[in-house]
Amino acid sequence: MRTAELEPRLGPADRQGALVLGGGQIVRDDGSVVRNDILIEGNGRIAAIGPDLPLPPDANRWDMAGTLISAGFVDMHQHLDKTGVLRFTPNPSGTLQGAREAFAKYARTAGPEDITRRATRTMGRCLSRGTTAIRSHVNVDKDARFNGIEALARLRDEWADRLTLQLVAFMTPHPGQDFDCLTENIDAALAIGDVVGGTPAVSEDPARYIDILFAAAARADKPVDLHLDEHLDPARVHFDAALDCVERYGMQGRTVFSHISVLSAMPRADARRIMDRMIELDVGAVTLPAANLYLQARDHETLPPRGLTRVAELMREGVAVATASDNIQDPFVPTGSGDMLEIARWTLLAGHLMADELADAYRMITSVPARLMGLGGDHGIKVGAWADLVLTDCIDTETLVAGGADRMRVLSRGRLVSETSARLADPEPARVACAP
Ligand SMILES: [Zn+2]
Repeated sequence: MRTAELEPRLGPADRQGALVLGGGQIVRDDGSVVRNDILIEGNGRIAAIGPDLPLPPDANRWDMAGTLISAGFVDMHQHLDKTGVLRFTPNPSGTLQGAREAFAKYARTAGPEDITRRATRTMGRCLSRGTTAIRSHVNVDKDARFNGIEALARLRDEWADRLTLQLVAFMTPHPGQDFDCLTENIDAALAIGDVVGGTPAVSEDPARYIDILFAAAARADKPVDLHLDEHLDPARVHFDAALDCVERYGMQGRTVFSHISVLSAMPRADARRIMDRMIELDVGAVTLPAANLYLQARDHETLPPRGLTRVAELMREGVAVATASDNIQDPFVPTGSGDMLEIARWTLLAGHLMADELADAYRMITSVPARLMGLGGDHGIKVGAWADLVLTDCIDTETLVAGGADRMRVLSRGRLVSETSARLADPEPARVACAP
């Protein structure tokens, strides 16, 4: 497999004008496929979709016959401030607590340039693999201070012409947390971040901590994304405290629970009650299979559980479930390539979905996270959306998730930013098909 990361830093003056993608197999938001043309304007947005679109003057046309055209992938849970630090701060225990301690130690010395360099590399890899929107949690605490969120806010601006980056002010708790300090800093963090986040199970006073987060979100009119109960101990769960706050602060439709691993350890009837309440309050879920598989259940001598939440049940009950990378090559997860198809595949396997749910796994990396992130009209293959597109030689979303593509091209804001071919023996690889 070889991937060419093309120069994406083309300003508006360098744009080539309009582009028509002719006769491709277009994936709609519901996963169905329809053959149509797509007209992309010079501003990087989709201007028209339909059969036999006329070619505007000075426009290029790419023949897309036999090409599957998907919306850009959405990785709605990463940690770009932590990415790539594994080699500098290992996690010998392989546990979640070990990872937290390892990163806290590193964060005290991580300056903006270091954070920017590592995040830039990961964002570039993600983009080249088809991800055009990322939500990153960024620690704001006594160790990281504002270093990470300020550095990533600059990247959010610099990369806005090719990738949508949302930042979660991750107000990380720690033993002996000074709640006054949290309260003093959370508004400033939210002035930079797009979303408020935290991890209640680690707090000494989870109910108070959750309330502080929701109150700040309501003041700033920004959504909430919690690392909720990333553990497997049913004796300590914080669903109701969080769901009560959703109601109290009117955050229905603007709240996401990430991980919720403990749901798998709870009796089914208790879990169903929580699911029903999540549906009633329009709370979404994000599963993070890589982190759960790696960090959870290290203390089990036999048959260690998978550590994921009840992915299949949540989805079948009607909860909006997305899946995401979480950590990439850091003390929390030592692996990771930024390939969302790999994450979708793992979700299907580790989440115990069925073979006829491959298309659901595809939606977990596209339309579902796009909705949960509030990307609205910017995402998807529709008029007015960014032309953030993944072009592959697959026949449908099921085969795309199941085995990946032999050939992939990625358009970001209408510009070709990556092309990949697995056919090294092919004398004329993917580049041929994208010539005007
Ligand atoms: Zn996370």
